[in-house]
Amino acid sequence: MRKYVIMGVQGSGKGTQSKLLCSAYEMVHISVGDLFRWHVQNHTKLGAQVKRTMNAGDLVGDDQVEAVVRGRLDQHDWNYGFVIDGFPRNARQAEFFMESYDIDAVIHLEIPDDEVRRRVLSRRLCPNCRMDYNLIADRPEVDGRCDICGHELVTRPDDTPEALDARLRDYHEQTTPVLELFGRKEPVLSIDARPDADSVQASVRKALGL
Ligand code: AMP
Repeated sequence: MRKYVIMGVQGSGKGTQSKLLCSAYEMVHISVGDLFRWHVQNHTKLGAQVKRTMNAGDLVGDDQVEAVVRGRLDQHDWNYGFVIDGFPRNARQAEFFMESYDIDAVIHLEIPDDEVRRRVLSRRLCPNCRMDYNLIADRPEVDGRCDICGHELVTRPDDTPEALDARLRDYHEQTTPVLELFGRKEPVLSIDARPDADSVQASVRKALGL
């Protein structure tokens, strides 16, 4: 069983790299942002509590995050392992996680902020089937329409320049210490996330020895 944390600022390709890795090695991809978005879309009590925070690009409270992560991992549907994405985002979350779970490695995707802005502001999502697009690298065949289900594509409500700046600031302030904490116990593998997705995936697998 393999247990990995994937870290990197929004737009570094965490979701894409996690999905590629998980489908090749039958691991489960756990995106904490997706878990929260599910709650918002399904109008759960938690969804109502976190919606405004998420839309502003701010971080959800640690107690709510820990409850969601614990609840997801308690499903134990990860016989071959998992890649957890978007968590931990600060030192407290990292300490909670390291107390409860042993991690094999941390995959750290490195990318400059300017490249993040360019990528994130061109991101589009199908609200119906959850397919991701990017107007630079991964355009839909018909402008503004999902290739899979034909639904109109939307911009994530937190992919605005203001929300992105808030996320970049949070990331640098809070996530950098997490890498230092992990680095004392687990291997932190830094990967250049600027090349295309397949090249980055090859670097990830090489670094993991897969
Ligand atoms: P993401 O898809 O990873 O960009 O997450 C979307 C939003 O969900 C973030 O902007 C936060 O509001 C919330 N979120 C996701 N993961 C965490 C976390 N580990 N800690 C706090 N908030 C989170």
